[in-house]
Amino acid sequence: MIKKRFQRGKKIGARLGHWTNGPAPFRYAYDAEARSLAVDGQKLEIYQFIKERLLRGSTCASICWELNRTGVPSPKGKLRQESVIYRLTMNEVHLGRVIYGKTSGGLHKNRKSAPFRVNPRKNWVVVEDAHPAVKTPEEYAEILKVLARRRMQMKRTRHGTYVCSGLVFCGKCGSSLQFQPKENGRILVKKCQKVDPFGNRCGNPGADLEHLEVAVIESLHEYEEEIRSRRIQVSTSDMIPKTMLRLKETELETLHEGILRLKDQYVSADLTKQEYRTRLDHQKDLIVKKENEIQQLKEIVHISGPISDQERLERIEELENVWQLLDTKPEEKNRLFKQTIERIEYARNGYGINARVRFR
Ligand SMILES: [Zn+2]
Repeated sequence: MIKKRFQRGKKIGARLGHWTNGPAPFRYAYDAEARSLAVDGQKLEIYQFIKERLLRGSTCASICWELNRTGVPSPKGKLRQESVIYRLTMNEVHLGRVIYGKTSGGLHKNRKSAPFRVNPRKNWVVVEDAHPAVKTPEEYAEILKVLARRRMQMKRTRHGTYVCSGLVFCGKCGSSLQFQPKENGRILVKKCQKVDPFGNRCGNPGADLEHLEVAVIESLHEYEEEIRSRRIQVSTSDMIPKTMLRLKETELETLHEGILRLKDQYVSADLTKQEYRTRLDHQKDLIVKKENEIQQLKEIVHISGPISDQERLERIEELENVWQLLDTKPEEKNRLFKQTIERIEYARNGYGINARVRFR
């Protein structure tokens, strides 16, 4: 009952334009007398800086680095984060609005309350001019446009599977590296894009994927020799379930990639919300099913543990056979690479390419 009354109080307060949503959001201070938000001058300066940079086309990331470099800490005294800047620029409170009823229900599983949900916008209580605005609706629209445009660009730079997808990491800083197809048909391992919180780039230079592949295949041959020089213990009993398990794990990965594809289609408006939801639910069902199958197989394989040398050699042979065939799809090569190789650390110094390969 008390909770109910409290909530009704909040709702009425919001209708009167009072601030009822907890701590004051960035660049405002709570004015207890007026029960609303007042502008905090110092924070306003930072806020205006962020806003103007955005309108001039800076990314949230570059604004974040700049603030960190110049020693402007976040309200909690920590280094600033790109995602927080992003949310800050999207916040409608800065338009002078108070919004109540965006969500309802609770997240507590054990408490008896309505399930948590985000309410449709038409059901929100939106009060305009509840406190001084610090961005105009025009500025807000422009920011939304800039961010949407950038998101489309990001989408276009995402590509399909390459031979080494998901396997190549920067040998200098450890972050994962991306690939880029060039017009002449070659594929480039992109320069390391990793940036520290101050905006310093790692800068490990890129290279032709082909060169890296040569280095990796060379290490693979060395590794094969090393295994052959060890004494081989042959055991074939649990080969079949293990092979099936690997197959199903690859299938599971493909299903997860399917979810990303659906999201892309939804963002680019190729799917209606209804179609998206239906297909997403279906895809999630398939994932659960596959996970169950994998779990079951794992119980059969049980002591799956480290793979045997015999198995390693079989995998390497399989890879080498397929490698020679020019028409093998990159997806297939990638799958074979992944079942033998755990990680490729790549670094380039001048013309020297350094590839450290960690095998499974
Ligand atoms: Zn790096």
